[in-house]
Amino acid sequence: MKSSLIQNNLSADLPAIESAQGVWLTDTRGKRYLDACSGAVVTTIGHGNPAVIAAMAEQAQHVTFTHRGAFTSVQTEQLADRLAALTGYAGVWFVSSGSEAVEAALQFALQYFREIGQPERQWFLSSSQSYHGNTLGGLSLSGHARRSVAGELAHAFHTLPTPYTYRDSAGLSESDYADALLVLAREQFVEHAHHLAGIVIEPVGGATLSATVPPAHYLVGLKSLCEEFGVLFIADEVMTGLGRAGRMLASDHWGIKPDLVATGKGLGAGYTPIAATLVSERVISAIEQGSGRIQGGHTYAGNPLSIAIASAVIEVLVSEDLVARGARMAVYLREQLENLAASHPVIGDVRGVGMLLALEFVQNRETREVTLPQGQLGRRVAAAALRHGVIIYVATGGFNEAAAVSPPLTISTEEIDYLVAGLDLALSEVESQLLD
Ligand code: PLP
Repeated sequence: MKSSLIQNNLSADLPAIESAQGVWLTDTRGKRYLDACSGAVVTTIGHGNPAVIAAMAEQAQHVTFTHRGAFTSVQTEQLADRLAALTGYAGVWFVSSGSEAVEAALQFALQYFREIGQPERQWFLSSSQSYHGNTLGGLSLSGHARRSVAGELAHAFHTLPTPYTYRDSAGLSESDYADALLVLAREQFVEHAHHLAGIVIEPVGGATLSATVPPAHYLVGLKSLCEEFGVLFIADEVMTGLGRAGRMLASDHWGIKPDLVATGKGLGAGYTPIAATLVSERVISAIEQGSGRIQGGHTYAGNPLSIAIASAVIEVLVSEDLVARGARMAVYLREQLENLAASHPVIGDVRGVGMLLALEFVQNRETREVTLPQGQLGRRVAAAALRHGVIIYVATGGFNEAAAVSPPLTISTEEIDYLVAGLDLALSEVESQLLD
């Protein structure tokens, strides 16, 4: 009988997963898959961690829900303090998803400018190719195929350039490419100067393009532009944050300190829906000295169960030194992916930072061309990989054929070898189909 479940692809026949452990998923037919993309780049600490499961069960015995407007808890305050200390932020605002964390960052920015007497600053700039969430505010910021359902709802222009070295740097040196992007960015700041509140940037491009790393000093240059024009730098680290990119925040790679940071996936690591907006001293103290009140919040934000689970996730991340471990394993994974590229012409680019790695697929490596209709090549590779028991995460922005290969930070070298062997078979299969 057909299920009533509505899925993205209404005619999809997806495997049903029954259990998960470490980097492995098992479906109801007993087939095992290596989760080479951590779901949607979520499960940093791997599946089925016993300490997290124990914390979940323990908390469920005590209390699972209280209303955040009425109560706080020792654990909630401790988790906020721990995140603040780990990331260097003054305040932590809990929400339940990455999209909500981005929305909250926008609202903090708008409130900040009202509090300091600049209410005309209500607009945001984001990159032409970007993803900031599936709420209407987040979609309005996104340069992404999904945007078509949102139209122009929030005050946002996705008109900042998008760093995309593989396709756009036109043979420029890394430094010249960053300068060229900054010239374009400056034009946007100048055009919108009088009403600009903030820019919203993924430090490393995620779901839209797959692990595109900006050229050196681009983000530093953007931060300087923000200071010059008096606007806030909002980093969307929903995908990159909390260890995925080899540092606690990806922004740390470039030594920049955004005014607001949206985090998400790595906080609950797939064990519970939880996310957080990190708020700088500049923003929170303006609100404290102004109205002293934040208008906003969601019913389930910071519920005791999610807080207990996220606290256990962060404890595992820190006590097992997984950020450094993930960065080390990523070096090995990247080497193996580069070896694959040497024998598979369908791989056009291997890129990324830390354990946020990706492959971009092409039909002609010289010209970097893809002649199949948009979306097909990436999906073909992902489907072949799935048949060989490896899951990769295809870019959904509508701009390229790429896929994240971003397993949990806990992956072992043997598991990486299995992952690469599965991809090898899948790529050979796709390449022989392309020749037919
Ligand atoms: N921002 C970025 C950079 C993301 O990658 C995502 C999700 O992929 C989101 C926001 C939205 O997060 P969520 O799906 O948890 O709402």
